[in-house]
Amino acid sequence: MAAPALSLIAIDGPSGVGKSTTARRVASRLGWHYLDTGAMYRAAALAVLRTGVALADRAALERLLAGLDLAQEGTRIFLAGEDVSEAIRSQEVTRGVTPVSADARVREVLVEQQRRIGASGRWVVDGRDIGTVVFPGACCKIFLTASPEARARRRFLELEAKGQRAVYEEILADQQRRDEADSTRAVAPLRQAEDAAVLDSSDLSLEQVVDRIVAKHLAHP
Ligand code: C5P
Repeated sequence: MAAPALSLIAIDGPSGVGKSTTARRVASRLGWHYLDTGAMYRAAALAVLRTGVALADRAALERLLAGLDLAQEGTRIFLAGEDVSEAIRSQEVTRGVTPVSADARVREVLVEQQRRIGASGRWVVDGRDIGTVVFPGACCKIFLTASPEARARRRFLELEAKGQRAVYEEILADQQRRDEADSTRAVAPLRQAEDAAVLDSSDLSLEQVVDRIVAKHLAHP
């Protein structure tokens, strides 16, 4: 008999598609927990940048991973007890996370932590490989997409609303760089799980996207 599906909603998709905001809202509607795996890779990248460890120095990387103390409390991310929620969103970390997240050993360690956290079920988890690698037994898998232009436009408006410097072309180029790197890396590349439902959010509001995911989950809990 097949193992029962895990009570876990996996939301995967490219950069800037709104996975985190969507996943958080879905979790709050259902009264489930939310896990942001992108934030875990970002915090690991921050640790690598701060310590100056070169990924080629495998012994140093191994020591760093052995002492990597990550925690998520609500929407805040902690690295060795320090709240790094803002620091992990910097340009430097956004650039530095690509090689760190492509490292097979880094992924092994973080995936193990993610599985431990999600094992109890009732989690909404977002990332790139959640439905394919981390939780292939998730009861509900969503592959969230939007056109590159729609994603870059949203990000541009978001930064502008916060009063931060934003250049649409730069946002689009950075997003394309990350999509390309995430989709072509050897380990756990971004791809749609065969049993995932594709949801194109280009012309949908956040509430409409959340409604559709919750409806899909309730139809097949
Ligand atoms: O989702 P977010 O953009 O914050 O993720 C940061 C980076 O972490 C991504 O660019 C991607 O390279 C990596 N990532 C990953 N696997 C995940 C989540 C994020 O490789 N499950």
